[in-house]
Amino acid sequence: MTDLYLKNGRTVDGAPIELGITGGQITAVGPKLNGLQAAETIDLNGDHYVSAGWIDDHTHCYEKLTLYYDDPDLDGVPTGVTTVIDAGSTGADNIGDFYRITRDKRTNVYAMINVSKTGILAQDELGDMNRIQDDLITQALADYPDFIVGFKVRESHSVVIDNDVLPLIAGKRIQKANGDLPLMVHVGANPPALKDVLDLLEPGDILTHAYNGKPNGIIDQEGNIANFVWAAYNRGVIFDVGHGTDSFNFKTMAIAKYAGLDPFSLSTDIYHTNRENGPVVDMATCIEKMLLLGYTLPEVIPMITSAPARNFRLAQKGSLAVGQDADVTIFQVRQGHKTLTDSNHNDRETDTLVVPTHTIVAGTVYTLEG
Ligand SMILES: [Zn+2]
Repeated sequence: MTDLYLKNGRTVDGAPIELGITGGQITAVGPKLNGLQAAETIDLNGDHYVSAGWIDDHTHCYEKLTLYYDDPDLDGVPTGVTTVIDAGSTGADNIGDFYRITRDKRTNVYAMINVSKTGILAQDELGDMNRIQDDLITQALADYPDFIVGFKVRESHSVVIDNDVLPLIAGKRIQKANGDLPLMVHVGANPPALKDVLDLLEPGDILTHAYNGKPNGIIDQEGNIANFVWAAYNRGVIFDVGHGTDSFNFKTMAIAKYAGLDPFSLSTDIYHTNRENGPVVDMATCIEKMLLLGYTLPEVIPMITSAPARNFRLAQKGSLAVGQDADVTIFQVRQGHKTLTDSNHNDRETDTLVVPTHTIVAGTVYTLEG
């Protein structure tokens, strides 16, 4: 007997899809599952999209910080996001506590470990190189192997102060000494120069805040994508949106789209302030911005499902296949009106709204107000 039968859904390509879920896993998938007997059936009437559970690979949800913090259950389940990956809020000193307080959350929570042992206790966590202690990170990886999915280095001036790319060089050393987890680097104001940061990144490393509107960004003086940016992109550095309070610009994103420098992953960089006051709000709002810029649903949904699952080695997540974790997002695209605002206070109007209606985590259904 199947626990849950999702009937009459549509894939983002518009094809019919139905799912059977049992014991927290997907146990049947097909255009039509005729005759499936289930304890509970949800009929989606052919007007709801069904995708793998949305994964937000850049969030800040360690509740005990004072700068960037949130409850993962406000960033996740209520917004259609089944999995949040915290991007370096914690380091070796506090990642164990973060692990413990997130075990009973409804939303799946994973973490990149900040190479600074303090995490983002203050804005300048990498202003003192003594906070990078390789042995403490190796121990944390041994203690929380199923929680830590990567490394985080914030390479902008207010974070590194006078250390330029030295924290990133240390991060690469630590990454290589501890298996093959990805390293995500945040960029912003210089120094360090974006070129010096990108030159250190290898295939599979992740550049977040890639489409910001800052002078130290991907666009050169003539308004084109800089050559060193293409060099990094073409050798396999992963470009991630990481919208954030300060790091998503409509014009930068439009120039990049026109040039073909598309993001691999779409993430919010959400925390309580930019969730409550904007400009981030939630993942659906970020999807609406991408649709407004001309991306299609079949292009955007992989950026929050299969791509982050692959990038962070979440083998049980990111696709709707038999044997995968039963993390599913059900949503509608509706006509409506909304003003969308980027990180530089530019407004654009949309009439296409993305509305999550059900979040399913390990087979448990949460019905949303949408
Ligand atoms: Zn961040």
